[in-house]
Amino acid sequence: MSFYSIISKYKNYNFTEFCASITPEKVTAILERDTLTEKDYLALLSDAAAPFLEQMAQKADRITRRHFGSVIFIFTPLYISNYCDNSCAYCSFGRQQTIRRRHLSFDEIRAEALRISAGGIRHVLVLTGEARAKATPAYCEGALRILRDYFSSIAIEIYPLTEGEYHDLIGCGADGLTIYQETYEEDRYGMLHSGGPKQDYGFRLEAPERACRQGIRSVTVGALLGLSDPVRDAFSAGLHAAYLQRTFPEVEVSVAFPRLRPLVADFKQEYPVSDRRLAQTIAALRLFLPTAGITLSTRETANFRNAALPLGVTRMSAGVSTAVGGHTSPEATPQFEIADTRTVDEVKDDLLRLGFQPVMHDWNGKYVRNQD
Ligand code: SF4
Repeated sequence: MSFYSIISKYKNYNFTEFCASITPEKVTAILERDTLTEKDYLALLSDAAAPFLEQMAQKADRITRRHFGSVIFIFTPLYISNYCDNSCAYCSFGRQQTIRRRHLSFDEIRAEALRISAGGIRHVLVLTGEARAKATPAYCEGALRILRDYFSSIAIEIYPLTEGEYHDLIGCGADGLTIYQETYEEDRYGMLHSGGPKQDYGFRLEAPERACRQGIRSVTVGALLGLSDPVRDAFSAGLHAAYLQRTFPEVEVSVAFPRLRPLVADFKQEYPVSDRRLAQTIAALRLFLPTAGITLSTRETANFRNAALPLGVTRMSAGVSTAVGGHTSPEATPQFEIADTRTVDEVKDDLLRLGFQPVMHDWNGKYVRNQD
């Protein structure tokens, strides 16, 4: 059974009615359980659970430390191309936007890799827009062959691929896949993605499964909070991660809840997500999925990221530029404004001060590749 058939069961589900039925007594009973059902998770996302944030946070911290210790993995994104055939209403790289397009040459990718790795980063996340004729799978393979000389772990956040294409990229050194569904609400997804190949909701939704079948080591899924009902999207992302954990127990599964950042001036945010709502969402996810990774990006401020650490966070980006070639050309156009501009060393210092252990290097793809 694919995830599409699972999430389809909730297409016409009345989330509002369910959440309105949750009482403080029900939340208290859920917080006493060791194992949560998917409906328990949904209850913890409801407004009725908001006053219980402190109890949720304390339990989330205990569970996280049991499974992950105090470790926070650090990585940096590397944007290599911003050509895009899609017209996502909320993105400054959309084809309808007039921006300077850049597509790094292999020499430029090597220069970015040198600059990033000099700062101690060993885990990198490679990003492109969705322009198959420009950032072709062969181009991505070439980029990976360069990057694997500099980094021990390389994840990709690019357009959804076929199973055979994932197989080839894994063979070139990709060991992780990040792909957000943006919103799991299919009708809303259709409204926000009115042009380009990204209109295919199902092909994107099942991309993580295709990569898992081809032996990817880790996947990160999630929703871009702010595009649609955040309770429904957070619930769906949690179900997605649970499905992947069940179906592919050998794969490390993580979840992220990036929040929409301002940059596209004409996009009206109808579903703003408060700090408190995001904190509740992260803690609820941790209680539902005790062993899933949780990523928190530089879309959030340094203050929020520091405060959110005990809620269950296990991975953070640092030293981030969201512009193509932004590590060597700071004037390049960013995809969105980051809120946490700390350097890698500043993030590490703050983690240590707060009692967490920053880890730059927990996996060595080079070692595995050398065994093949
Ligand atoms: S979100 Fe991704 S696919 Fe959509 S316009 Fe931006 S870069 Fe392109």
